[in-house]
Amino acid sequence: MSESRYDWLHDRWVVFAPQRAARPDEFRDRFQPARRPGFTCPFCAGNERETPPAILSLPPSSPRSKQAWQVRVVPNRYPALESLSPLTSARPWGDEGQQTPANSGLDEKIPSPAADLESPISVSPSPQCTRGIHEVIIETPEHLESLTQLAREDAQLVFRAMRQRLTALRANHRLHYAVVFKNVGAAAGASLSHSHSQLISTDFVPPNIRRVSRRLQHFQQQHQTGYFEQALEQELKHGDRLVAHSEFFVAFVPYASALPYFVTILPKTRQPRFEESSDLELADFSEVVQRILLAMESTFAELAYNFILHTSPFDAGGDQAFHWRMEIVPRLTQVAGFEWGTDCYINPVLPEYAAEVLREAMETGPAQDSPTTLPLLKQRTNSPAVS
Ligand SMILES: [Zn+2]
Repeated sequence: MSESRYDWLHDRWVVFAPQRAARPDEFRDRFQPARRPGFTCPFCAGNERETPPAILSLPPSSPRSKQAWQVRVVPNRYPALESLSPLTSARPWGDEGQQTPANSGLDEKIPSPAADLESPISVSPSPQCTRGIHEVIIETPEHLESLTQLAREDAQLVFRAMRQRLTALRANHRLHYAVVFKNVGAAAGASLSHSHSQLISTDFVPPNIRRVSRRLQHFQQQHQTGYFEQALEQELKHGDRLVAHSEFFVAFVPYASALPYFVTILPKTRQPRFEESSDLELADFSEVVQRILLAMESTFAELAYNFILHTSPFDAGGDQAFHWRMEIVPRLTQVAGFEWGTDCYINPVLPEYAAEVLREAMETGPAQDSPTTLPLLKQRTNSPAVS
């Protein structure tokens, strides 16, 4: 039996179809090693010349380490955007207090890049093709392929590097938004296996982020509480979609997850900006992320996944009702014709079941033989809506 759920945040319906999980060979291993014979990894220590010069380099946390750096942030050699240059915190409009130009991403109209910006390459070919910066966060000097292989202290450095770069980018008044994301495995869009994340900052706020921000503001005005505060209260109360619960964070599989085993990690108290997290919070966050990824890796062989770190848009008003969060999206199914055509999603795994599987994986530790198919489904139990 299928069940439809309304995803308020994204204004879309998700169809859960557990019966589809029983299809043979449904989730075949889609991992395809991208490494070619004789391929030199540009992210390994010793190959620093293969990348542009570092914007940020953090030393190892352990004094015993012989590495010159532990985390290195470099401009992407193949940026997805027309580059803004220089990439430092230059303020082309002068005084500290001066406002950004009128293309604020939270405006109703579709923003276009400011006409008076100088680009080192060329002007954007269309108003929708924006400019910005694209950076790579190299998470380890060794050729490790997972964030879970890093020591706890080294994993924390990765998130500190993200915090540092986001802080610098927010101070650049030509930029309006940034997102940090990670692609692991060919099925998730990765082309290099060396553990790394990416950061893209744009000179406008992407439409879907703008839409979500407006919906969060509207919810807050209507209910005198935030959407995520209410969601968190419901998740903690019922518990069946909870995956992890730490001092500062709660991780859960959202009520209307569009994709199987989708996990959201949310600070317990509303914080719009990830980059304002304390060292203590980042240490806790880093541990939660590693635990969840380890649970996913032990559940699915050759796991391909994306994570997305959302922080509030840079524009005035961007902080209103925004809640920074991380979304972890295992790539177990393909977005196919129905989803592309309708923006409605068919999810073969109920969130309550996915949460249970991940909780068990965290308790039991890595399995000897990870299945390459989704675990068989149990009968679902009635679970209350978040509303
Ligand atoms: Zn490497």
